[in-house]
Amino acid sequence: MSETILVTGGAGYIGSHAVLALQQAGYEVIVLDNLSYGHRELVEQVLQVKLIVGDTSDRQLLDQIFATNNIAAVMHFAAYIAVGESVTDPAKYYHNNVTGTLTLLEAMVAASIKKFVFSSTCALYGVPKTVPIPEDHPFDPISPYATSKWMVEKILSDFDVAYGFKSVCFRYFNAAGADPNGLLGEDHVPETHLIPLVLLAALGKRESISILGTDYPTPDGTCIRDYIHVADLAQAHVLGLQYLLKQGNSEVFNLGNGSGFSVREVIETAKTVTGKDIKIVECDRRRGDPPILVGSSDKARKVLGWHPQYPNISEIIAHAWQWHQQRHR
Ligand code: UDP
Repeated sequence: MSETILVTGGAGYIGSHAVLALQQAGYEVIVLDNLSYGHRELVEQVLQVKLIVGDTSDRQLLDQIFATNNIAAVMHFAAYIAVGESVTDPAKYYHNNVTGTLTLLEAMVAASIKKFVFSSTCALYGVPKTVPIPEDHPFDPISPYATSKWMVEKILSDFDVAYGFKSVCFRYFNAAGADPNGLLGEDHVPETHLIPLVLLAALGKRESISILGTDYPTPDGTCIRDYIHVADLAQAHVLGLQYLLKQGNSEVFNLGNGSGFSVREVIETAKTVTGKDIKIVECDRRRGDPPILVGSSDKARKVLGWHPQYPNISEIIAHAWQWHQQRHR
């Protein structure tokens, strides 16, 4: 019989792609999502897995889920993710991302489920001192969002010492793209991410794309990011899970392609992919954004045998474009 994995936030962007990858790898999946940002139809109609609508801070619900299902491990995606909002509303981020996760972890320990795959972020490195950034780069989170993820990583390492709780933390660089077969894609409301916003502008759903800062210390003045295909992230999660199920020790891994693209380069690539002209408006910086984030993922390649299938930025944007066109037909 296949093992059952609880996926929190499985109705969201990265979580839903991970559910698909888990299904393809032969796992049973149960999704826990409070649907504050997730999409019910994705889970129930597209992925066709059991959806429990609820919160990671609902201890009673968690106890009941763990008592009535034979859960082998938890993949935890449920979190608030908007860096800018976290600066203006930090309490929201610490409550959900830290307190909610702590409740989940306590319920897991109580139920003796001690394998956990966690969505962390490269944002906890702050403004990098070396590029590409390795996992042992010092931490300097510059937004409450990043701090909330860093705090959970600390909690996880303490839980390992105290309770033998094993976790794999994935520090994502910029998740982008969509399921290559067009089943799933990125649909945040409100949307704050660069690639979907550019594509919405290409579709005529938005008037223009704002470049948030043109005075960064980078060659063209705009921020540089390492965009990683969401299907490649999802595949890494399956490998991380398999590593834990085979009694692997707690580890942290960067997940990126190791190459950086500026905001202007992303917009130019999107123009080529879509064949549309996209109006640009140059704006002030957004608080909490480091000028450059590019990661080294050598460790994930070596330890997990992870090989990104879609490293090309044009292909990443093309998959996102395919999904956005379908979605807004
Ligand atoms: N960005 C931008 N215009 C937008 C949204 C984002 O110029 O409308 C920039 C943002 O400042 C950052 C990069 O695009 O440098 C990627 O931002 P995104 O929100 O997609 O991901 P994040 O880096 O916050 O995870």
